[in-house]
Amino acid sequence: MTFTCRQCGSCCMFLGDYIVIERQTGPFSFDCESVSTGTPFRAQVDEDKRAIFLDDSFPGQHPHACRFLRPDGNLLRCTIHRDSPPQCKFYRCVVMRILDTEGCLRGTVRGTLDLHSDDPALRAVWEQVVKERPKDDGEAEAWIAAFLKRKGYRVE
Ligand code: SF4
Ligand code: SF4
Repeated sequence: MTFTCRQCGSCCMFLGDYIVIERQTGPFSFDCESVSTGTPFRAQVDEDKRAIFLDDSFPGQHPHACRFLRPDGNLLRCTIHRDSPPQCKFYRCVVMRILDTEGCLRGTVRGTLDLHSDDPALRAVWEQVVKERPKDDGEAEAWIAAFLKRKGYRVE
């Protein structure tokens, strides 16, 4: 299942305490730290995003958002896409949408392979998933999709 980020920015809206600017080293360059992993990194604002980065009204209005997030039309974009830390690059908010036979959305699976669903039937099926899935996440994703399909769900 291929994940495509829609650049809605919602995953970055509360990461201001986790992606921290330690110092500005040039007009568009920064020494930063990814606090959750304690990893320092250097970031330069992407050339094509410098104009939107310079407008700092958004971080002023959203103090908990990552300092590098900016609106761009209908999108909220990471302005250091090239230099963002690995956990940002590999983050996948939703890797599976689970639908019933009528096409109604019953739940979603995040990149961490946990279920988000209020549906009791799907939650019961998921208990089996948790018990039986392969330990390796790489193998588990395809296994879970096949398992849910055998249980009558559509997986997108
Ligand atoms: S990873 Fe998901 S939540 Fe984050 S910007 Fe992309 S689509 Fe939005
Ligand atoms: S560095 Fe970019 S992707 Fe990571 S939290 Fe900030 S805006 Fe989001």
